[in-house]
Amino acid sequence: MESPGIEPESGSPAPPAEEPERSEAAPAPQQEAEGVPPPAPVAQGRRPSGPGSQGQTKRRGAGKGGRGKRGSTRRAGEEWGRPAHVTVDSSKAKTSLEALKISLRQLRWKEFPFGRRLPCDIYWHGVSFHDNDIFSGQVNKFPGMTEMVRKITLSRAVRTMQDLFPEEYNFYPQSWILPEEFPLFVAEVRMMKESNPPWKPTFIVKPDSGCQGDGIYLIKDPSDIRLAGNLQSRPVVVQEYISKPLLIDKLKFDIRLYVLLKSLEPLEIYIAKDGLSRFCTEPYREPTLKNLHQVFMHLTNYSLNIHSRNFIHSDNVNTGSKRTFSSVLYRLSSKGVDIKKLWSDIISLVIKTIFALTPELKVYYQSDIPAGKPGPTCFQILGFDILLMKNLKPVLLEVNANPSMRIEHEQELSPGVFENVPSAVDEEIKVAVIRDTLRLMDPHKKKKKDNHLPDTCMDSKQRFPPVSSRLPRLNLQFSKFAVVRSQLSENSSDTKDDLLEPGSTDQLEHDISKNPEASLPSLCLKQVFPKYAKQFNYLRLVDRMAALFIRFLGVKGTMKLGPTGFRTFIRNCKLSNSNFSMASVDILYIDITRRWNSMGLDQRESGMCLQAFVEAFFCLAQRRYKSLPLHEQVASLIDFCEYHLAILDEKRLVCSRGITERRAALVTCQPDGLHLTPATHAPLLNHMAAANKLTDCRNHRS
Ligand code: ADP
Repeated sequence: MESPGIEPESGSPAPPAEEPERSEAAPAPQQEAEGVPPPAPVAQGRRPSGPGSQGQTKRRGAGKGGRGKRGSTRRAGEEWGRPAHVTVDSSKAKTSLEALKISLRQLRWKEFPFGRRLPCDIYWHGVSFHDNDIFSGQVNKFPGMTEMVRKITLSRAVRTMQDLFPEEYNFYPQSWILPEEFPLFVAEVRMMKESNPPWKPTFIVKPDSGCQGDGIYLIKDPSDIRLAGNLQSRPVVVQEYISKPLLIDKLKFDIRLYVLLKSLEPLEIYIAKDGLSRFCTEPYREPTLKNLHQVFMHLTNYSLNIHSRNFIHSDNVNTGSKRTFSSVLYRLSSKGVDIKKLWSDIISLVIKTIFALTPELKVYYQSDIPAGKPGPTCFQILGFDILLMKNLKPVLLEVNANPSMRIEHEQELSPGVFENVPSAVDEEIKVAVIRDTLRLMDPHKKKKKDNHLPDTCMDSKQRFPPVSSRLPRLNLQFSKFAVVRSQLSENSSDTKDDLLEPGSTDQLEHDISKNPEASLPSLCLKQVFPKYAKQFNYLRLVDRMAALFIRFLGVKGTMKLGPTGFRTFIRNCKLSNSNFSMASVDILYIDITRRWNSMGLDQRESGMCLQAFVEAFFCLAQRRYKSLPLHEQVASLIDFCEYHLAILDEKRLVCSRGITERRAALVTCQPDGLHLTPATHAPLLNHMAAANKLTDCRNHRS
C-alpha cells in the first residue's frame, strides 16, 4: 500500500519551498513600501491574478534603519499616520500560500511574501514553529505540535486519558504501540477471542512516521504483523479496525474537520462549521482475507484514491470523491439522522482530544519560549480525521499538525501530462478557515478585546502561573474540591448544558460583525472552549499534573525533571512520610524514568518526561487513596498537592512582603540610625517577626 504522496501532511518532510527564501547576502525585498495600502480584495473565493500576486510583486528597499525582527514593533502605515494594516509574513507558508494569499486579499491585510526586516504582526509557517526565528507577534504553529500528533505520541496521550476516563475516551480505537507492546497485543487479543469466540477482529497497522496511507496494511491476526520491515527502526501503531463504517452510496468516507487552537493558556478552541468528506473509490465490503489489500475500498486517503480510475473530481461541492462535510450532513439529515447530536458528539471528541494533547504541549511551550524570554504567541489550525461508524458514533483516526491547505489538484490532461487545476471544494473550505483564523487572531481586535477582558483571560504569553496564583484568596482550610471548583468556574463562560447549536453566536463573533469587515461572510469558526468548559473541565486532570511538573522543572528550557526536582516536588507537597521514605521516592523515580527512557523516546535529555511523571503520580495516588477509582485517586492527590503548594506560596508571599517592608523601613530610618521614632519602631518589630517567618519559610524550601 505505497502512497504516491501528493499532499504532505503531519509528520511529512517539508515540501520544497515554493518561493525564494531570504538570504543574508541579498537583503529581503518587500512587497510594498510602508504605508501603501494593499490592493483591493478580490471577489469572494476568487484566485488572485494580475498585479499584486506574488510573481508580480514590486521589490522595494528594505525597512527603515535596517532593524532586525527584534527591533521596533511599529507597523506598516503607522509611520505615516495612516491606519495601520495587519502585516503578515508569508515567506514560509509553502503549500498553504495560495489559500493564504486569497485570505489576505479578502481581509485587505498586507502580505510580505519575502519576509520583512521589521517585525510582522503574524507569521504564517507551512511546517513548524521553528521555520523562522521570531521574537514577537503571532505564529500559526505551536512548538511541539508535530511531535504530539505523531501516531505513537497521540496514542499514548489518549491512552493516559483512557486510563482515567475509559467511558469518555472510547472514541479512539483500541491501540497498541509496537514493538514494545507486541506481547501485550498478542495476549490481549487472545484473551478477547477466548471470552468472545464469534469476534473476528481486523487490525490496521500504521507506521508512526507515515502519512497519506503510506505503509498502512490490514491484518486479521497478530501473527500477520510484518516483522521483516524491522519494527525497531520503524515502530508502528496497531489499531482495532472499524469494520462497520457508515457508508454513502456504498462507499466508505471520512471527515476532515479543521480545528483552531487559538490559545493554550487559557485554552481556547474553535471548530470550523464545515469540513471535507473524502470518499473511497470502490464499494465497501467488510474485511476478509481476500479483500484486506484493497486500498481503494478500505482507506479514504485522497492521495491514494486520486489514483483510482473511479475517482471523481468534484465540479461542485456536493458530489465527487471529495465533498464538503455539510453536503454529507444535508444528505444524512434528509434520511432522518439527528445532525445536532452528531455535531455534539464530534465537538465532544475534539475537546477531549485537545485535552489529551495540551499537557505536553505546555511543556514544549515553556521549553521553547520560557517565561520572561521574548517570543511570539502561538495559534494553530489542526486537521482532525474522523470516521463515522454505522451507528453514527464518531471515531478519531488521527490529528494532523499541518493539514493540507492546497486549493488545487493535479489533473491528467493526456496520458502522462499533468496540470494543477483549481479545486472548488478545497478553495471554499480552506480559504474560509484561514481567513477566519486570521480574523480571530487580528492583533488590532485582540488589543481591544484584551482591554475589556477580566484577568482570567490573560494573554498566552502570561502562560502557566503558579498553582496558587490561580486560587482565590487562600483559605487555609483544606477543602478537597475547592481547587477543582475554582478551576471549573475560571474558564466557564457559558452555563448552558446543551452542546453546539450550529449558527449560534458568541461575543467575539458579534464584535467582528460590527467592524468594517462586515462585507465578509460570518465566521466559519465556532468557539467550543471555554464555551463548554463546564461540561468538560473535570477531565483536565493531566493538565493539572503538567502544571505541577512544570513548576518543578527548575531550569528554564528543560522538558525533563531531574531527581532533585522530583524530590522537591515530594517534599513541598508533603507526600513523604514514615510509610513512604525519601529512599522509596528515589527508587520510584529511578524505576519509572529508566523504563520510559528505554522506550527510545527523546534521548537528548536525561530525566523524567511528563508521561513518566504522570505514571509516578498515578502510583502515588494509588498508594494514598486505595479504595477510590483511579480518576478520583488522582484528583484527590492533585487537590492535596495544590493545597500544600498554595500554603507554601502564601508563606513565601508573606516572607517577601516582610523583606520589602523591612527594606522600606530601613530607608526611612534617621541618618544616625540610632534614634528611632515610634513610627519606625513598630514596623521594625513586624519585620523581626517577618524575618522569623523567613527562616521558617527557608526551612520549608528544599
Ligand atoms: P495516514 O496518516 O497515513 O493517513 P490514518 O490514520 O489517517 O493514516 O489512516 C489512513 C486511512 O485508513 C484513514 O483515512 C482511514 O480511511 C483508514 N483507517 C485508519 N484507521 C482506521 C481504523 N481504526 N478503522 C478503520 N479505518 C481506518
